[in-house]
Amino acid sequence: KQNQKKDKGNAKNKIMSQPTIFIPVDRSPEIQEARLKLPILAEEQVVMEAVRENPCVVICGETGSGKTTQVPQFLYEAGYASGGGIIGITEPRRVAAVSMSHRVAKEMNLPTQVVSYQIRYEGNVTSDTKIKFMTDGVLLKEIQKDFLLQRYSVIIIDEAHERSVYTDILIGLLSRIVPLRNKKAKPLKLLIMSATLRVEDFTDNQKLFKTPPPVIKVDARQFPVTVHFNKRTPLEDYTGEAFHKTCKIHRMLPPGGILVFLTGQAEVHSLCRRLRNAFPFRKSSTVTEGEEEADTSEAMRKFKKAKQKKTMSLPRIDLDNYSALPVDEGDEDREAGIEDEDDGGSDIDLGDDPTDGETKADPSIPLYVLPLYSLLAPEQQAKVFRPPPPGTRLCVIATNVAETSLTIPGIKYVVDCGRVKKRFYDRVTGVSSFKVTWTSQASANQRAGRAGRTEPGHCYRLYSSAVFGDFSLFSEAEITRRPVEDLVLQMKDLNIEKVVNFPFPTPPSAEALAAAEQLLVSLGALEEPPRTGRVKAMQRARLTCPITPLGRAMASFPVAPRYAKMLALGKQQDCLPYVIAVVAAMTVREIFEDLDRPARSEDENSKLTQRRARLAQMRRLWAGQGASLLLGDLMVMLGAVGACEFAGCTPKFCEDNGLRYKAMVEIKRLRGQLTNAVNAVCPEVSVFVDPKMTPPTELQVVCLRQIVLAGLGDHLARRVQAEDILDPKWKNGYKTPLMDDPVFIHPNSALFKTLPDFVVYQEIMETTKMYMRGVSAVEAEWVPQLLPQYCHFGSPLEAPTPWFCSSTGTIRCHRPSTFFRVGWQLPAVEM
Ligand code: ADP
Ligand code: MG
Repeated sequence: KQNQKKDKGNAKNKIMSQPTIFIPVDRSPEIQEARLKLPILAEEQVVMEAVRENPCVVICGETGSGKTTQVPQFLYEAGYASGGGIIGITEPRRVAAVSMSHRVAKEMNLPTQVVSYQIRYEGNVTSDTKIKFMTDGVLLKEIQKDFLLQRYSVIIIDEAHERSVYTDILIGLLSRIVPLRNKKAKPLKLLIMSATLRVEDFTDNQKLFKTPPPVIKVDARQFPVTVHFNKRTPLEDYTGEAFHKTCKIHRMLPPGGILVFLTGQAEVHSLCRRLRNAFPFRKSSTVTEGEEEADTSEAMRKFKKAKQKKTMSLPRIDLDNYSALPVDEGDEDREAGIEDEDDGGSDIDLGDDPTDGETKADPSIPLYVLPLYSLLAPEQQAKVFRPPPPGTRLCVIATNVAETSLTIPGIKYVVDCGRVKKRFYDRVTGVSSFKVTWTSQASANQRAGRAGRTEPGHCYRLYSSAVFGDFSLFSEAEITRRPVEDLVLQMKDLNIEKVVNFPFPTPPSAEALAAAEQLLVSLGALEEPPRTGRVKAMQRARLTCPITPLGRAMASFPVAPRYAKMLALGKQQDCLPYVIAVVAAMTVREIFEDLDRPARSEDENSKLTQRRARLAQMRRLWAGQGASLLLGDLMVMLGAVGACEFAGCTPKFCEDNGLRYKAMVEIKRLRGQLTNAVNAVCPEVSVFVDPKMTPPTELQVVCLRQIVLAGLGDHLARRVQAEDILDPKWKNGYKTPLMDDPVFIHPNSALFKTLPDFVVYQEIMETTKMYMRGVSAVEAEWVPQLLPQYCHFGSPLEAPTPWFCSSTGTIRCHRPSTFFRVGWQLPAVEM
């Protein structure tokens, strides 16, 4: 409040047109009663006053204090959505954008045409929309179209503590947009909401806000939580440890929900199954289906009612039904692509604990076990918000979605494995891998806090206090952990030439920015910096390269720059529809079901074996023969997309052939979106999405391979020739410019047996080995023609480029270069 006073002084000249109207909202009595219990309600006046008097306000409040659901309603009631502008709220997670829009619509008793959401591929926004929940990526795209965001009267950046890349960029951009808008008739308000008090990166940042925005702290009635540390820290089997701890709590401690934090879907399902085996859930006869499904959305309720009529005579519904849900792995929930719950490529052994089933539990109090993770179907997710069947104890096994995005009622015990799954990129090589690492102290405390929402609680940490002491204090901002070429291109397109000077809340490293700029120059998206002059001047020039017309076209495609380059080249030889399909397939993280995962039962095992064989067969079929085979994994993707859409893109087709239905639907949408984007940039080609696309001709396949090479030029690898192999580890290995160690073609790849001399790959994933994903064969002679920027034609000793082309026509890769081009020093591998 001190802050606010300080700010009143310079708020004088601001905002003449403050809304004074009060827009009534017709809420049901139950909703109203529940709202009044939320801590943020006590702060409504403070919040609204601060918003009126300041262009930007920061709100900090414990998870569950009502920020996400209530603040948009305050603004709506105060008339911020009645002057023609709308209230926009950004979320880093798609699941939050969708579920919060539904929740707020329900609370306000307004239709979804008014309280709507927009995520990357879908939404229900109409011209009547007043409150719009969206992912941060969606708003960033909108800024590109309309820098001043004229349609909005307020932008709320939610979950800012998560520090997702797009959130950070948005805050940087909005710090500039807000002052511009405040000079106009219709000002724009910015609210930043965070679940933690650590907001200095936003407030004490002269580059961002000259006057620090006021910070409103919402005092959540948090009950004390007793934290219990383990004496020892299990290094491997924390799932087993979590199992034992949960059993103990359930058998020995008084009633109250249990929330267990694990790192990924596979672990969640494994623990759910073990707990259900240990404490079989027998539905008490007093619980009817109707009761159990009590608090659900209108449409859902009608559906259930209809269903209930039909199944009335059945003794019980099958509560175990969800464990049979396909584990939808490898997808991304966030627009920016932090796949913190993704199990893609995970090689953590989830094998059963030998003690499984030995636990003699007291089955008299049933344990009602529910899984919770981002990619869980929304109906399944909604279950955690409802009271458990009477006489049972709720037990939710969750990934870190339950940390801040969603609040589960009635939790008294938290079991925290102390770990989190994160995607790591190697800054130099671009190799990505999923790793389970220790979480931060801030996250661990957030998790513990979940236990004290309704009464005093307990948090059991499955690690020692010494280990906790070694955790980093806070989680790093995502922007410091991933490549930034896409962001740099988007910023250049916004005419932010000196990206280094952008007011990032936390700036990415100079190396990451330099690498991004370098890649974009190689792709032709930015102008080549002058090669002459002093080293310092050159370095400076490299960080301020202006965007080229090609770069503008690329920036308008909603895909990463390498793929955007392919789209830009795609019109040759009528290849565009194929390029669009391939790029769409590459953008969606994984189109094939992961059939290599360990089976959960013997029955499933035999099914999996069958399906694996079927998928292998289909892969061979889709890869085609002869010329098309050389397009490799991308041909398989193209074949799969073509076949699936030919068959009408049905769940059955996907299920039968080992494709992820959700991925195929997303590809279909993305194909439409990319087709529109290409037509907008290049109207003369006029492509359309043909559901009955015929396979490419041999000539087109050659063309496609070249287009792919042009886009993935920095992902070129050369097979190590037999005579060069001194160390057996190089057998069948490939050499890439940036790595000491060999990389390999995955056994599932279409080119596993072919082993072409030169390949390009989509990405390298580190699992048991360094494996290239999305591999295509390229011809040696294309390399100097299509990638002159990466080739050197003189003496190999002086070669400043990764690839050396000798006069005899051989192309070699240098030893891993400490330089990338022209003496570029890159940082050491940092994990
Ligand atoms: P914050 O954003 O501060 O974390 P929220 O606004 O998300 O808080 O949540 C406020 C309250 O609303 C919480 O107690 C939560 O349990 C409840 N809530 C949120 N979504 C739902 C839902 N879909 N169904 C029932 N209750 C919900
Ligand atoms: Mg929230």
